[in-house]
Amino acid sequence: MNVTVEIERRDSDPVKPEWACPSCHQPARLADLRANLMVCPHCGFHLRIGARERIRQLVDEGTFRELWSNVLTLDPLKFTDLETYPERVREAQAKTGLNEAIVTGTAAVDGTQCVLAVMDFGFMGGSMGSVVGEKLWRSTELAAGEDLPLVAVCSSGGARMQEGILSLMQMAKTSCAVDLINEATSPFVTILADPCTGGVVASFATLADICIAEPGAQLYFTGPRVIAETTHEKLPQGFGSAERNLQLGHLDAVVARKDLRVRVGNYLRLLGGGEEPDRVTTTIGRERGKGGMGQTALERAKAFATYARRPFVRGDREAAGEAEEPAAREPSP
Ligand SMILES: [Zn+2]
Repeated sequence: MNVTVEIERRDSDPVKPEWACPSCHQPARLADLRANLMVCPHCGFHLRIGARERIRQLVDEGTFRELWSNVLTLDPLKFTDLETYPERVREAQAKTGLNEAIVTGTAAVDGTQCVLAVMDFGFMGGSMGSVVGEKLWRSTELAAGEDLPLVAVCSSGGARMQEGILSLMQMAKTSCAVDLINEATSPFVTILADPCTGGVVASFATLADICIAEPGAQLYFTGPRVIAETTHEKLPQGFGSAERNLQLGHLDAVVARKDLRVRVGNYLRLLGGGEEPDRVTTTIGRERGKGGMGQTALERAKAFATYARRPFVRGDREAAGEAEEPAAREPSP
């Protein structure tokens, strides 16, 4: 008697890839992804990266010196939603290893010394509160005072709602900071990384001398879904993308991550941040901001900053015993 036996052979579960691209869905090894600067090796999709990784990629090795890392936020509104604001800040600090949504300092980019400010979307959505505004202000002060260019990498969901109106005031403060650096005629370059939206894209991020973005970055004030729901209009293809912003003239260039360091280095040399010892008197950029408006802008910026900066952050100046207004004021009865 013949007996037929069917043996069904089941393949073991396919090996789950270490990483799959959210855009093209192709797998890749994490080590390859890291070696490729966190850009998909198949389709070029640029993943979001944190501030530390950004600095590692962008600046010359070993040149970054962090400044003002101990400037911390207060809780001026005593804001509570599901958690208190200080709890949310502590969680973000534990998650990112950063004290705030922006890391500032000095560094060399492709051989040119500059002041660097890098935002981290992983820290409460890169939201701009009083500390982000203050550290950006100090960065412009340092750049203006030391005749250094400023490079800012901007990635943000917008204002920090836990600081309410104080957060919105940072739009004015950082715009005044740009006035300050313009008056000093120090070059200012911004790199917009996905996503750069809300109060950040509507203030200092897009006020730079040169404003560039990474491929595919989403850049807009209000998100497409909200606009579509509010206006009942169908938005055009590619709305808010870096490429569309470039077409519309909102950006100077879209630059792949692997080219950023050299490109930014070229910009800094071109704008007079380079090595020539006589650049102060010879660079065309030196003539900017010399009109009547310049001085007015400078005075306005300084006055505004004096008002806006003090009561809402605590940190190094306080620790150093410098004259500072009370860190937190009780509301008047
Ligand atoms: Zn891909």
